[in-house]
Amino acid sequence: MEGRGNTFCRGCLGEKLFSGLDLGELPIANELLKSADGNLDRFPLHLKVCNDCGLGQVADVVTPDRIFRDYRYLSSMSSTFLEHASEFVSRRFDEGVFAPDDWVLEIASNDGYLLKNFLPFGIKAIGVEPAENVAQISRSLGIETISEFFSSDLAKELLAKHGSPKLIIANNVMAHVPDLIDFVKGLSILCGSETVISIENPSLMNILIGMQFDTIYHEHYSYLTATSVKQISHNHGLHLFKVEELSIHGGSNRYWLQIQNGVFPTDSSVERVLDFEIKSRLFDPAEWDVCASRVAKILEEFQAWLQMGKIEGYRIYGYGAAAKASTILNSIDTGPDFLVSIADVSLEKQMRYMPPNGIKIVSPQELFAQKPTDIIIFPWNIKVEIATFLRAHLGDQVRLWCAVPELSEVDI
Ligand SMILES: [Zn+2]
Repeated sequence: MEGRGNTFCRGCLGEKLFSGLDLGELPIANELLKSADGNLDRFPLHLKVCNDCGLGQVADVVTPDRIFRDYRYLSSMSSTFLEHASEFVSRRFDEGVFAPDDWVLEIASNDGYLLKNFLPFGIKAIGVEPAENVAQISRSLGIETISEFFSSDLAKELLAKHGSPKLIIANNVMAHVPDLIDFVKGLSILCGSETVISIENPSLMNILIGMQFDTIYHEHYSYLTATSVKQISHNHGLHLFKVEELSIHGGSNRYWLQIQNGVFPTDSSVERVLDFEIKSRLFDPAEWDVCASRVAKILEEFQAWLQMGKIEGYRIYGYGAAAKASTILNSIDTGPDFLVSIADVSLEKQMRYMPPNGIKIVSPQELFAQKPTDIIIFPWNIKVEIATFLRAHLGDQVRLWCAVPELSEVDI
Protein backbone atom coordinates (compact mmCIF):
# COMPACT_ATOMS: atom_id res chain seq x y z
CA MET A 1 0.00 0.00 0.00
CA GLU A 2 1.51 3.28 -1.08
CA GLY A 3 2.73 5.52 1.72
CA ARG A 4 2.49 2.87 4.42
CA GLY A 5 5.56 3.03 6.66
CA ASN A 6 6.53 6.28 4.93
CA THR A 7 3.73 8.85 5.16
CA PHE A 8 1.45 6.95 7.55
CA CYS A 9 1.98 4.31 10.24
CA ARG A 10 1.45 0.64 9.44
CA GLY A 11 0.45 0.01 13.04
CA CYS A 12 -2.05 2.75 13.87
CA LEU A 13 -2.56 4.67 10.58
CA GLY A 14 -1.29 7.88 12.31
CA GLU A 15 0.53 10.40 10.15
CA LYS A 16 3.14 11.69 12.60
CA LEU A 17 6.18 9.74 11.41
CA PHE A 18 9.63 11.18 12.00
CA SER A 19 12.98 10.15 10.54
CA GLY A 20 14.97 7.60 12.55
CA LEU A 21 17.78 6.45 10.27
CA ASP A 22 18.09 6.91 6.51
CA LEU A 23 20.35 4.28 4.91
CA GLY A 24 19.86 5.49 1.33
CA GLU A 25 19.08 2.99 -1.45
CA LEU A 26 19.98 -0.66 -0.89
CA PRO A 27 19.23 -3.99 -2.63
CA ILE A 28 16.81 -6.42 -0.97
CA ALA A 29 18.94 -7.96 1.76
CA ASN A 30 18.41 -11.63 0.90
CA GLU A 31 18.86 -11.21 -2.85
CA LEU A 32 22.27 -12.28 -4.09
CA LEU A 33 24.02 -11.85 -7.43
CA LYS A 34 24.22 -14.80 -9.83
CA SER A 35 27.46 -13.49 -11.35
CA ALA A 36 30.23 -11.28 -10.00
CA ASP A 37 29.32 -8.42 -12.33
CA GLY A 38 25.54 -8.78 -11.99
CA ASN A 39 23.16 -6.07 -10.86
CA LEU A 40 20.27 -5.90 -8.41
CA ASP A 41 17.44 -3.39 -8.01
CA ARG A 42 17.98 -0.92 -5.17
CA PHE A 43 15.19 0.57 -3.08
CA PRO A 44 15.07 3.34 -0.43
CA LEU A 45 15.65 2.11 3.12
CA HIS A 46 14.56 4.74 5.61
CA LEU A 47 13.63 3.85 9.18
CA LYS A 48 10.87 6.09 10.52
CA VAL A 49 9.23 6.18 13.94
CA CYS A 50 5.53 6.84 14.66
CA ASN A 51 4.93 9.55 17.21
CA ASP A 52 1.43 8.24 17.93
CA CYS A 53 2.06 4.56 18.74
CA GLY A 54 5.88 4.31 18.92
CA LEU A 55 6.32 1.79 16.09
CA GLY A 56 9.55 1.87 14.05
CA GLN A 57 9.03 1.04 10.37
CA VAL A 58 10.27 1.22 6.80
CA ALA A 59 8.13 1.74 3.69
CA ASP A 60 6.87 -1.37 1.89
CA VAL A 61 8.73 -1.10 -1.37
CA VAL A 62 8.65 -4.83 -2.04
CA THR A 63 5.90 -7.40 -1.58
CA PRO A 64 6.44 -10.30 0.84
CA ASP A 65 5.95 -12.67 -2.10
CA ARG A 66 9.28 -11.51 -3.49
CA ILE A 67 11.03 -12.31 -0.23
CA PHE A 68 9.27 -15.09 1.62
CA ARG A 69 7.93 -17.54 -0.95
CA ASP A 70 11.39 -18.93 -1.60
CA TYR A 71 13.14 -18.35 1.66
CA ARG A 72 16.68 -19.58 2.22
CA TYR A 73 16.87 -19.11 5.94
CA LEU A 74 16.40 -22.22 8.06
CA SER A 75 16.11 -21.72 11.81
CA SER A 76 17.48 -25.20 12.46
CA MET A 77 20.87 -24.15 11.07
CA SER A 78 21.63 -22.38 14.34
CA SER A 79 22.10 -24.40 17.51
CA THR A 80 21.44 -21.19 19.49
CA PHE A 81 17.91 -20.95 18.02
CA LEU A 82 17.25 -24.67 18.50
CA GLU A 83 18.12 -24.51 22.20
CA HIS A 84 16.08 -21.35 22.64
CA ALA A 85 13.03 -23.04 21.05
CA SER A 86 13.29 -26.20 23.08
CA GLU A 87 13.66 -24.23 26.34
CA PHE A 88 10.61 -22.15 25.45
CA VAL A 89 8.46 -25.25 24.98
CA SER A 90 9.65 -27.09 28.09
CA ARG A 91 8.92 -23.99 30.19
CA ARG A 92 5.31 -24.00 28.98
CA PHE A 93 4.99 -27.62 30.09
CA ASP A 94 6.63 -26.83 33.44
CA GLU A 95 3.93 -24.21 33.92
CA GLY A 96 1.36 -26.96 33.28
CA VAL A 97 -0.71 -24.93 30.84
CA PHE A 98 -1.79 -27.73 28.50
CA ALA A 99 -4.71 -30.16 28.59
CA PRO A 100 -4.61 -33.15 26.17
CA ASP A 101 -7.01 -31.64 23.60
CA ASP A 102 -5.36 -28.22 23.49
CA TRP A 103 -3.67 -27.07 20.34
CA VAL A 104 -0.84 -24.71 19.57
CA LEU A 105 -0.39 -22.42 16.59
CA GLU A 106 2.92 -21.06 15.42
CA ILE A 107 2.96 -18.32 12.84
CA ALA A 108 6.08 -18.36 10.62
CA SER A 109 6.92 -21.83 11.88
CA ASN A 110 9.89 -22.08 9.50
CA ASP A 111 11.27 -25.64 9.30
CA GLY A 112 9.44 -26.80 12.43
CA TYR A 113 12.40 -26.08 14.72
CA LEU A 114 10.07 -25.07 17.57
CA LEU A 115 6.84 -27.00 16.98
CA LYS A 116 8.62 -30.36 16.79
CA ASN A 117 9.20 -29.99 20.54
CA PHE A 118 5.43 -30.33 21.13
CA LEU A 119 5.11 -33.65 19.31
CA PRO A 120 6.50 -35.91 22.10
CA PHE A 121 3.87 -34.45 24.47
CA GLY A 122 0.98 -35.38 22.14
CA ILE A 123 -0.17 -31.77 21.78
CA LYS A 124 -1.55 -30.84 18.38
CA ALA A 125 0.68 -28.25 16.74
CA ILE A 126 -0.13 -26.39 13.55
CA GLY A 127 2.36 -24.22 11.72
CA VAL A 128 1.79 -21.42 9.25
CA GLU A 129 4.76 -20.98 6.94
CA PRO A 130 4.44 -19.28 3.54
CA ALA A 131 7.76 -20.51 2.13
CA GLU A 132 6.75 -23.78 0.49
CA ASN A 133 10.34 -25.11 0.39
CA VAL A 134 10.67 -24.55 4.15
CA ALA A 135 7.15 -25.78 4.98
CA GLN A 136 7.97 -29.11 3.29
CA ILE A 137 10.78 -29.74 5.77
CA SER A 138 8.38 -29.07 8.65
CA ARG A 139 5.76 -31.47 7.19
CA SER A 140 8.38 -34.17 6.89
CA LEU A 141 8.74 -33.99 10.69
CA GLY A 142 5.00 -34.71 11.03
CA ILE A 143 3.83 -31.15 11.71
CA GLU A 144 0.66 -29.93 9.98
CA THR A 145 1.92 -26.87 8.11
CA ILE A 146 -0.14 -24.41 6.10
CA SER A 147 1.75 -22.68 3.29
CA GLU A 148 0.10 -19.27 3.49
CA PHE A 149 0.72 -15.85 4.93
CA PHE A 150 -1.13 -15.41 8.22
CA SER A 151 -4.11 -13.05 7.91
CA SER A 152 -7.47 -12.34 9.49
CA ASP A 153 -9.08 -14.56 6.79
CA LEU A 154 -6.83 -17.51 7.65
CA ALA A 155 -7.54 -16.89 11.35
CA LYS A 156 -11.28 -17.23 10.69
CA GLU A 157 -10.71 -20.53 8.89
CA LEU A 158 -8.54 -21.90 11.67
CA LEU A 159 -11.05 -20.85 14.32
CA ALA A 160 -13.93 -22.51 12.48
CA LYS A 161 -11.98 -25.75 12.11
CA HIS A 162 -10.13 -26.04 15.43
CA GLY A 163 -11.51 -23.44 17.87
CA SER A 164 -9.18 -21.14 19.80
CA PRO A 165 -5.65 -22.42 20.42
CA LYS A 166 -4.23 -22.45 23.93
CA LEU A 167 -1.05 -20.82 22.76
CA ILE A 168 -0.16 -18.73 19.73
CA ILE A 169 3.54 -18.26 19.02
CA ALA A 170 4.59 -15.46 16.73
CA ASN A 171 8.34 -15.21 17.02
CA ASN A 172 10.26 -12.87 14.75
CA VAL A 173 7.36 -12.59 12.35
CA MET A 174 5.49 -9.35 13.10
CA ALA A 175 8.50 -7.42 11.83
CA HIS A 176 8.00 -9.11 8.45
CA VAL A 177 4.31 -8.31 8.00
CA PRO A 178 3.38 -5.38 5.73
CA ASP A 179 -0.30 -5.31 6.80
CA LEU A 180 0.33 -5.32 10.53
CA ILE A 181 -3.24 -4.28 11.35
CA ASP A 182 -4.75 -7.30 9.57
CA PHE A 183 -2.22 -9.56 11.29
CA VAL A 184 -3.18 -8.27 14.77
CA LYS A 185 -6.86 -8.62 13.82
CA GLY A 186 -6.10 -12.27 13.02
CA LEU A 187 -4.51 -12.78 16.43
CA SER A 188 -7.53 -11.19 18.04
CA ILE A 189 -9.96 -13.46 16.12
CA LEU A 190 -8.16 -16.59 17.34
CA CYS A 191 -7.66 -15.39 20.90
CA GLY A 192 -10.17 -17.12 23.22
CA SER A 193 -10.59 -16.55 26.96
CA GLU A 194 -7.80 -19.05 27.73
CA THR A 195 -5.46 -18.21 24.86
CA VAL A 196 -2.11 -16.58 25.44
CA ILE A 197 -0.05 -15.10 22.64
CA SER A 198 3.74 -14.97 22.73
CA ILE A 199 5.46 -12.50 20.43
CA GLU A 200 9.23 -12.37 20.32
CA ASN A 201 10.98 -9.64 18.46
CA PRO A 202 14.12 -7.53 18.71
CA SER A 203 13.26 -4.08 20.06
CA LEU A 204 13.70 -0.79 18.22
CA MET A 205 15.78 0.10 21.26
CA ASN A 206 18.58 -2.14 19.92
CA ILE A 207 19.06 0.23 17.01
CA LEU A 208 19.02 3.46 19.00
CA ILE A 209 21.07 2.24 21.97
CA GLY A 210 22.86 -0.82 20.55
CA MET A 211 23.69 0.62 17.10
CA GLN A 212 22.25 -2.50 15.45
CA PHE A 213 21.57 -0.60 12.23
CA ASP A 214 22.38 -3.73 10.18
CA THR A 215 19.08 -5.22 11.36
CA ILE A 216 17.31 -2.65 9.20
CA TYR A 217 16.33 -4.11 5.85
CA HIS A 218 13.39 -4.02 3.49
CA GLU A 219 11.91 -7.30 4.70
CA HIS A 220 11.83 -5.90 8.26
CA TYR A 221 8.83 -3.67 7.80
CA SER A 222 8.32 -3.03 11.55
CA TYR A 223 10.63 -2.48 14.55
CA LEU A 224 8.52 -3.20 17.60
CA THR A 225 8.54 -1.43 20.94
CA ALA A 226 6.57 -2.29 24.08
CA THR A 227 4.74 1.02 23.61
CA SER A 228 3.60 0.08 20.09
CA VAL A 229 2.69 -3.52 20.94
CA LYS A 230 0.55 -2.31 23.85
CA GLN A 231 -1.24 0.30 21.78
CA ILE A 232 -1.76 -1.64 18.53
CA SER A 233 -2.95 -4.78 20.33
CA HIS A 234 -5.26 -2.66 22.51
CA ASN A 235 -6.81 -1.20 19.32
CA HIS A 236 -7.91 -4.75 18.45
CA GLY A 237 -9.18 -6.02 21.80
CA LEU A 238 -5.96 -7.53 23.12
CA HIS A 239 -3.99 -6.69 26.23
CA LEU A 240 -0.24 -6.75 26.88
CA PHE A 241 0.15 -8.35 30.31
CA LYS A 242 3.83 -9.23 30.51
CA VAL A 243 7.17 -8.42 28.86
CA GLU A 244 10.25 -10.64 29.16
CA GLU A 245 13.61 -9.28 28.14
CA LEU A 246 15.73 -11.92 26.35
CA SER A 247 19.32 -11.98 25.18
CA ILE A 248 18.66 -13.77 21.85
CA HIS A 249 19.17 -11.81 18.59
CA GLY A 250 21.17 -9.18 20.46
CA GLY A 251 18.26 -8.38 22.76
CA SER A 252 14.63 -9.27 22.14
CA ASN A 253 11.42 -8.70 24.00
CA ARG A 254 8.88 -11.46 24.48
CA TYR A 255 5.46 -9.83 24.68
CA TRP A 256 2.59 -11.78 26.23
CA LEU A 257 -0.93 -10.89 25.13
CA GLN A 258 -4.38 -12.07 26.16
CA ILE A 259 -7.91 -10.80 25.62
CA GLN A 260 -8.83 -7.59 27.43
CA ASN A 261 -9.91 -8.33 31.03
CA GLY A 262 -8.31 -11.77 30.68
CA VAL A 263 -7.37 -14.09 33.54
CA PHE A 264 -3.72 -13.08 33.95
CA PRO A 265 -2.89 -10.03 36.08
CA THR A 266 -0.77 -7.35 34.42
CA ASP A 267 2.84 -7.93 35.42
CA SER A 268 5.01 -5.03 36.65
CA SER A 269 7.39 -5.72 33.72
CA VAL A 270 4.97 -3.93 31.37
CA GLU A 271 5.20 -0.59 33.18
CA ARG A 272 8.94 -1.01 33.69
CA VAL A 273 9.70 -1.55 29.99
CA LEU A 274 7.32 1.22 28.89
CA ASP A 275 9.07 3.64 31.30
CA PHE A 276 12.48 2.56 30.08
CA GLU A 277 11.52 3.34 26.47
CA ILE A 278 10.47 6.87 27.42
CA LYS A 279 13.54 7.48 29.60
CA SER A 280 15.81 6.25 26.79
CA ARG A 281 14.26 8.92 24.54
CA LEU A 282 13.27 6.25 22.05
CA PHE A 283 10.61 8.53 20.61
CA ASP A 284 12.75 11.68 20.49
CA PRO A 285 13.86 12.78 16.98
CA ALA A 286 16.95 14.55 18.38
CA GLU A 287 18.17 11.28 19.88
CA TRP A 288 17.82 9.62 16.47
CA ASP A 289 19.94 12.39 14.89
CA VAL A 290 22.71 11.43 17.32
CA CYS A 291 22.26 7.78 16.34
CA ALA A 292 22.54 8.65 12.62
CA SER A 293 25.87 10.44 13.18
CA ARG A 294 27.23 7.49 15.15
CA VAL A 295 26.22 5.04 12.42
CA ALA A 296 27.93 7.17 9.74
CA LYS A 297 31.11 7.14 11.83
CA ILE A 298 30.98 3.35 12.39
CA LEU A 299 30.64 2.77 8.62
CA GLU A 300 33.50 5.19 7.83
CA GLU A 301 35.78 3.45 10.32
CA PHE A 302 34.91 0.00 9.00
CA GLN A 303 35.67 1.05 5.44
CA ALA A 304 38.97 2.66 6.52
CA TRP A 305 39.95 -0.56 8.31
CA LEU A 306 39.28 -2.66 5.17
CA GLN A 307 41.42 -0.25 3.14
CA MET A 308 44.20 -0.40 5.71
CA GLY A 309 44.00 -4.21 5.65
CA LYS A 310 44.53 -4.24 1.90
CA ILE A 311 47.64 -2.04 2.21
CA GLU A 312 48.99 -4.22 5.01
CA GLY A 313 48.39 -7.41 3.02
CA TYR A 314 45.74 -8.89 5.33
CA ARG A 315 43.60 -11.67 3.90
CA ILE A 316 40.19 -10.50 5.12
CA TYR A 317 37.13 -12.74 4.72
CA GLY A 318 33.56 -12.62 5.93
CA TYR A 319 31.43 -15.29 7.57
CA GLY A 320 27.63 -15.45 7.17
CA ALA A 321 26.20 -14.09 3.91
CA ALA A 322 23.02 -13.02 5.67
CA ALA A 323 20.92 -9.88 5.52
CA LYS A 324 23.12 -8.17 8.11
CA ALA A 325 26.14 -8.57 5.82
CA SER A 326 24.16 -7.17 2.90
CA THR A 327 23.02 -4.05 4.78
CA ILE A 328 26.51 -3.15 5.96
CA LEU A 329 28.42 -4.04 2.77
CA ASN A 330 25.99 -2.13 0.60
CA SER A 331 26.31 0.93 2.85
CA ILE A 332 30.04 1.29 2.23
CA ASP A 333 32.31 1.25 -0.81
CA THR A 334 33.98 -2.17 -0.90
CA GLY A 335 34.48 -5.27 -3.02
CA PRO A 336 36.59 -8.43 -3.38
CA ASP A 337 39.81 -6.39 -3.37
CA PHE A 338 39.17 -5.69 0.30
CA LEU A 339 36.99 -8.58 1.44
CA VAL A 340 38.04 -11.65 -0.54
CA SER A 341 34.97 -13.82 -0.04
CA ILE A 342 32.24 -14.65 2.47
CA ALA A 343 31.73 -18.17 3.75
CA ASP A 344 28.25 -19.52 4.41
CA VAL A 345 27.01 -23.02 5.25
CA SER A 346 23.98 -22.66 2.97
CA LEU A 347 24.53 -24.61 -0.24
CA GLU A 348 22.03 -22.36 -2.00
CA LYS A 349 24.10 -19.27 -1.23
CA GLN A 350 27.43 -20.79 -2.18
CA MET A 351 28.47 -19.86 -5.72
CA ARG A 352 26.42 -16.68 -5.56
CA TYR A 353 27.85 -13.23 -5.00
CA MET A 354 27.18 -10.48 -2.47
CA PRO A 355 26.12 -7.17 -4.03
CA PRO A 356 27.07 -4.56 -4.97
CA ASN A 357 30.57 -5.53 -6.12
CA GLY A 358 30.37 -9.31 -6.40
CA ILE A 359 32.09 -10.70 -3.33
CA LYS A 360 31.99 -14.48 -3.85
CA ILE A 361 30.16 -16.70 -1.36
CA VAL A 362 32.05 -19.90 -0.60
CA SER A 363 31.77 -22.93 1.66
CA PRO A 364 33.41 -22.86 5.11
CA GLN A 365 35.84 -25.55 3.86
CA GLU A 366 36.98 -23.26 1.07
CA LEU A 367 37.46 -20.45 3.59
CA PHE A 368 39.63 -22.69 5.78
CA ALA A 369 41.76 -23.69 2.76
CA GLN A 370 42.43 -20.05 1.88
CA LYS A 371 44.19 -19.30 5.17
CA PRO A 372 42.54 -16.01 6.16
CA THR A 373 44.27 -13.62 8.56
CA ASP A 374 41.02 -11.91 9.54
CA ILE A 375 37.35 -12.91 9.46
CA ILE A 376 34.38 -10.59 9.97
CA ILE A 377 31.50 -12.47 11.59
CA PHE A 378 28.43 -10.74 10.17
CA PRO A 379 25.68 -12.52 12.21
CA TRP A 380 26.98 -11.00 15.47
CA ASN A 381 23.87 -12.31 17.27
CA ILE A 382 25.38 -15.82 17.10
CA LYS A 383 29.03 -14.75 17.20
CA VAL A 384 30.01 -17.11 20.04
CA GLU A 385 28.66 -20.12 18.15
CA ILE A 386 30.42 -19.09 14.92
CA ALA A 387 33.68 -18.02 16.59
CA THR A 388 33.90 -21.36 18.41
CA PHE A 389 33.38 -23.18 15.10
CA LEU A 390 36.02 -21.05 13.31
CA ARG A 391 38.56 -21.44 16.13
CA ALA A 392 38.07 -25.22 16.04
CA HIS A 393 39.16 -25.24 12.37
CA LEU A 394 41.64 -22.38 12.21
CA GLY A 395 43.13 -22.26 15.69
CA ASP A 396 44.52 -19.01 17.08
CA GLN A 397 46.17 -17.92 13.84
CA VAL A 398 43.20 -15.87 12.69
CA ARG A 399 41.72 -12.66 14.09
CA LEU A 400 37.91 -12.72 14.43
CA TRP A 401 35.87 -9.52 14.28
CA CYS A 402 32.36 -8.12 14.41
CA ALA A 403 31.62 -4.87 12.56
CA VAL A 404 28.58 -3.94 14.67
CA PRO A 405 28.00 -2.11 17.03
CA GLU A 406 31.52 -1.05 16.03
CA LEU A 407 34.54 -2.93 14.71
CA SER A 408 35.89 -5.01 17.56
CA GLU A 409 37.74 -8.28 17.99
CA VAL A 410 35.79 -11.33 19.16
CA ASP A 411 37.64 -12.63 22.16
CA ILE A 412 37.25 -16.41 21.86
ZN1 LIG B 1 1.61 4.42 14.78
